[in-house]
Amino acid sequence: AAAAVGSSVIPIVNKLQDIFAQLGSSSTIDLPQVAVVGSQSSGKSSVLEALVGRDFLPRGSDICTRRPLVLQLVHQPRRPADAEADEWGEFLHLSGRRFYDFREIRREIQVGIPFPHCGVRFYDPIVKLSASMQAETDREAGGNKGVSDRQIRLKIFSPNVLNITLVDLPGITKVPVGDQPTDIEARIRTMIMSYIRHKTCIILAVSPANADLANSDALQMARVADPDGSRTIGVITKLDIMDRGTDARNFLLGNVIPLKLGYVGVVNRSQQDINSDLSIKDALAREEKFFRTQPAYHGLTQYCGIPQLAKKLNQILVQHIKTVLPGLKSRISSQLTAAAKELAVYGDPVDSKAGLGAKLLNILAKYCEAFSSMVEGKNEDISTI
Ligand code: GDP
Ligand code: MG
Repeated sequence: AAAAVGSSVIPIVNKLQDIFAQLGSSSTIDLPQVAVVGSQSSGKSSVLEALVGRDFLPRGSDICTRRPLVLQLVHQPRRPADAEADEWGEFLHLSGRRFYDFREIRREIQVGIPFPHCGVRFYDPIVKLSASMQAETDREAGGNKGVSDRQIRLKIFSPNVLNITLVDLPGITKVPVGDQPTDIEARIRTMIMSYIRHKTCIILAVSPANADLANSDALQMARVADPDGSRTIGVITKLDIMDRGTDARNFLLGNVIPLKLGYVGVVNRSQQDINSDLSIKDALAREEKFFRTQPAYHGLTQYCGIPQLAKKLNQILVQHIKTVLPGLKSRISSQLTAAAKELAVYGDPVDSKAGLGAKLLNILAKYCEAFSSMVEGKNEDISTI
C-alpha cells in the first residue's frame, strides 16, 4: 500500500537485511519501536491499521484494546508463484499456526472482549475458534473489561513491510466499568509509560479532534515521557466529525501546543464505514478528497493525511538508520577480517564466504553512500545501484 510504513526506505533496508542474512551475520538494523498513546476510542488502532495498510486490529467505541499488542512487522521476499501466501500473521501464544486471513487475526485478538460492550462485528463466530485466547485474555484481564499489562505478540510476515515494531496500547480511561479496579487510570498510565519512556520509542500521541485538544491525555503523557518532544508526533484524528464551524487548523500548525516534530491530521474510518466494510484503500481515497475539498485545510498539505504521517515516520526512521549504518559497516568489516584470517589457515576455496563477504561489503558501502546522499536530498532514486 502506498501509505505503508517505511515505503520509501523499504527497498534499501530490506536489501541491507538480505545482505546480512547472506553473510550469516548477527548484525541487524535495529529499528525503533513506534507506540500509539491516547484516550480510549481516540482512534489509535485505526491509525496503526491505516499505516500498515491491512485490516486486522479490533476497533470500536469501547475499550477494545485490553492488552498491549506488540506488532512485529517482518519483511520477507515476495514469492511470485504463490502471491496469495506470502503474507500472514503468527501469534506467539499460538505458535506454528499461520493466519492468512487478516480478519481471522482480528477475531483472534478480539476474543475475550465482552460482545455487548464492544459493538464490533466479528465477535460471535469466533469464540470457539480461539478458545485458547479467550481463556488467556480472561485469565489475564478478567472476564469483564479488565485490562492486563501482558502483551499479545503478533508477527506479520509480508513483502510489503519494513522490519519495525508497532505497539497498540490500551486507551487511557477515567471511569472504571465492569470489574475494572478503581485505580484503572493509574494502572493504564503506568503500563503506557513502561513503553513510551524508552528513548528509542517513537510516540504517536493520538487526540480526537472532536474533544478538547488542549486537554489531550496523549499529549500530556507524551510530554512526561519525552519532555523535549524529540520523538513525539502529534496525530489528530476524527477531523471529519468536528463541531460544525470549527477546524483544527491552528492545532495542526502548532499554534496551540507546539510540538517539535509537529502534527498530522487524519480521517480514518468511522464505525459505520467499518460496518459496511469500507476498504482501507477506499478510506484513504476519501481522506484525500476530504483534505482537498475542505477550505480550512488548504495550504496544509504536509500536515494532513495518513500518507503524510507515514512520510514523517519514514523521515525519522531514515535518520535513525543513518546514525546506525556506520556502526554496522565497521561490525561487518571486522567480521570479514576475522573470516579472512580463518580462511588463510585452510587455503583458498574458490567460492569462499570471505569472497562473498567482500563483494557484499562493497555493495553495502555503495548503499551507505547512496543512502546518505538520498537523506541529504541529492539522490532520489536509490534503486539503480
Ligand atoms: P482506539 O480505542 O483509540 O484504538 O480507537 P479505535 O481505532 O478503535 O477507534 C474508535 C472508534 O472511532 C471506531 O469506531 C472508529 O471507527 C472511529 N474512528 C477512528 N478514527 C476516526 C476518524 O478519523 N473519523 C471518524 N469518523 N471515526 C473514527
Ligand atoms: Mg484500540
